[in-house]
Amino acid sequence: MNPDVIVAGGGPAGAAAACHLASGGARVVVIERDSGPCHKVCGEFVSVETQGYLADLGIDVSGLGAVPIDRLRFVHGGETGVVDLPFRGVGLTRRRMDAALLRAAQDHGAQVRRGAAVRAIVKVGPDLAVTAGDGSLTASRVLLATGKHDVRGLNRPPGDPADLIGFKTYFTLERAQREALDGHIDVVMFAGGYAGLQLVETGLANLCLVVGASLYQLLLEGAGTATAGPGSQEHPHDHLHAGGDGEAGH
Ligand SMILES: Cc1cc2nc3c(=O)[nH]c(=O)nc-3n(C[C@H](O)[C@H](O)[C@H](O)COP(=O)(O)OP(=O)(O)OC[C@H]3O[C@@H](n4cnc5c(N)ncnc54)[C@H](O)[C@@H]3O)c2cc1C
Repeated sequence: MNPDVIVAGGGPAGAAAACHLASGGARVVVIERDSGPCHKVCGEFVSVETQGYLADLGIDVSGLGAVPIDRLRFVHGGETGVVDLPFRGVGLTRRRMDAALLRAAQDHGAQVRRGAAVRAIVKVGPDLAVTAGDGSLTASRVLLATGKHDVRGLNRPPGDPADLIGFKTYFTLERAQREALDGHIDVVMFAGGYAGLQLVETGLANLCLVVGASLYQLLLEGAGTATAGPGSQEHPHDHLHAGGDGEAGH
C-alpha cells in the first residue's frame, strides 16, 4: 500500500515531521540516504527550545548522555568574556541525536528506509513518484527535508550569504583542557568567520567553524607556512589532539 506522505531526508526536520505526521494517523515513509548513524557538520549545541521539541517526541537528551552547558565564553581580538547562559544548553552529537530522532519516527509509526538517496521526484497524475535506490514509491504528498542538499531538478535558490563553508572535527582533550571547557561553549570571532568549541557526550570536544570562501582560499594558500607570532599566548585549549572524524560542508 502506498504511503500518504514520503519524507525525503531523515535529519532533524524530516524525522520530527515524520513523528508528527505518523502520530496524526498518516502513513509515512522516511527515505534517508545514509545507511546508519553518521557525523554531520554541526556545532552540536542543543538549545533549550530544541530540547523541548525533542522531549515532545519522547527524546530525553540526558538519557542520551548530553553534557550540560551553562556558560558562554566569548573570545574576540584577544579579549575573553564569560557570561551565564539564560538557559541550560547541552552538547550532544548529531550522530546520536539524529539516530534517536529516526528511532522516534519509527516508534510513532513511520517506516524508515535507510541507505538509498532520493534521486528524482516526478509528478504522475495527481501523485508524486519518488525514485530512491533501485525502487520507486508513490504518494500524494512529498516532504523535501534533505537539508542543504538539493534533489536533482528541484534546486532551491542559494542562501544568503552563499559562500560560507562549515568545518567540524573532534579533539581529545587533556585533563586541564577538559576542566577548562567543561560547562562552557567557547565562541571565537575572527575576521572572516567564527568558531565554537564545546564538549559532547563522547568526552571529546567538538570544534566547529564557519568561514567565508575568500578566507578559506587564503588558508589553503597559506597552509604549512603559518607560524605563531611572538605575542601568541598559551591557553589550556592550545595543543589539542585531533581525536576523531573531521568533515567539511557548505
Ligand atoms: C557549521 C554549522 C554549525 C551548526 N551548528 C548548530 C548547532 O550548534 N546547534 C544547532 O541547533 N544547529 C546548528 N546548525 C544548524 C543545523 O545543522 C541545521 O539546522 C539542521 O541540520 C537542519 O536539519 P535538516 O533536517 O533540515 O537538515 P540536515 O540535518 O542536513 O538533514 C538532511 C538529511 O537528509 C539526508 N539527505 C540529503 N539528501 C538526500 C537524498 N537525496 N535522499 C535521501 N536523504 C537525503 C541527509 O543525509 C540528512 O540526514 C549548524 C549548521 C552548520 C552548517
